[in-house]
Amino acid sequence: METPKEFIEETKELLEFIKKSPTPFHAVKNIADMLKDEGAEELFENERWNLECGKAYFVKRNDTSVISFKVPENPAIPKLKIIASHSDSPSFKIKENPELKKSGHYLELNVEKYGGALLNPWFDRPLSIAGRVIVDADGELQSILIDFDKDMVLIPSLAIHMNREANDGTKIDLQKTMMPLWGDESSEGTFNEALKEELKKQGLTNEEILGYDLYLYNRVEPSIWGEGKKFFSAGRIDDLLCAYESVKAFNETKETDSINVCVVFDNEEVGSATKQGADSTFLSDVIDRIAVCLKIDDEAKKILISKSFMVSADNAHALHPNFADKADPVNAPVLNGGVVIKYNAAQKYTTDAYSGAYFKKLCIESDVPYQIYTNNSNIAGGSTLGNISNTHVAMNTVDIGAPQLAMHSPYETAGTKDALHMLRAMKAFYE
Ligand code: ZN
Repeated sequence: METPKEFIEETKELLEFIKKSPTPFHAVKNIADMLKDEGAEELFENERWNLECGKAYFVKRNDTSVISFKVPENPAIPKLKIIASHSDSPSFKIKENPELKKSGHYLELNVEKYGGALLNPWFDRPLSIAGRVIVDADGELQSILIDFDKDMVLIPSLAIHMNREANDGTKIDLQKTMMPLWGDESSEGTFNEALKEELKKQGLTNEEILGYDLYLYNRVEPSIWGEGKKFFSAGRIDDLLCAYESVKAFNETKETDSINVCVVFDNEEVGSATKQGADSTFLSDVIDRIAVCLKIDDEAKKILISKSFMVSADNAHALHPNFADKADPVNAPVLNGGVVIKYNAAQKYTTDAYSGAYFKKLCIESDVPYQIYTNNSNIAGGSTLGNISNTHVAMNTVDIGAPQLAMHSPYETAGTKDALHMLRAMKAFYE
């Protein structure tokens, strides 16, 4: 059966966003553009804030995390409604002095793994490079976004003839086997030249390059596929699906009696303990400043937080067609089955009976399908950002996500209906 058009349209929009967001720097820039287009005003952490009722604002940290919030018309503020997701995905980061001479003939790039990447799917596919470059522009350090947006490197696998055990599970040596091929002996010095070429396209000709945060990304085009267009695949579905839909839900919610907050944190994939991660003061700093601006005293702020609710939105594992034994025998969500509510006794997921009930009620009342995920009891499962954020700003929190396959592969798969399911659930929450 064909997937209805409105679901396909939402997924296409999401895939456009994913395509132009190869790194957290790009994702946050694109989110900032979406917010500005709807009239949100940018605030800066190093300036004083003046907030007006009825207006939306956003503030970035490190250009890889962003918090947007809307001050209601009536500032007798009852509560905060927060949706939090993450901007980063597993990848490879290019090291300083990246040119690596190999085998007397080749030039490779020296990279290290970022996050819990599934390594095998990175072999034998065209990869590109994107991120930010720091230049010295007339004595000032300036951050420039770059995206080569063409096939630049590839990590070649070893032929089966030279490793007959390749299909029986081969241990991957990160420093030896995951280095992407850039050129040959005549290519020495060309990495920096290529960066300068990219800067030139942005009108920067003489600036000295003093640093960069550059990552590899998969160049294989996103695709909607399968019988009835039921599935779609792309890089970074985890967690750009939740990030994109949360910003859309934030933008599309007009009338509200709460302070709606949309948070996209960086560094979830490496444990969140950075100045811009969920384990930082970013969210609590922003809430403190909102309170100061709206003249909410310290006790009133604590009351406000105690009445607030957070949706921690990070994708969930769907039942795998070939590995049903890895799923819980009962609570195994499927692609296109709706938003997943995640439970874990060890509280890696924050959901408890109360917050789960709150979210279920919301889904039932707004006619959004939901399903339940619990780990197979023999498998530890993943972690996310809700429980970490709660150690800084504690409130009732539910962990949700869209069901997906091949999490942390550079080409993940999800259900074409679930982007719109997610948007509808998030809008219901904000409204
Ligand atoms: Zn995630």
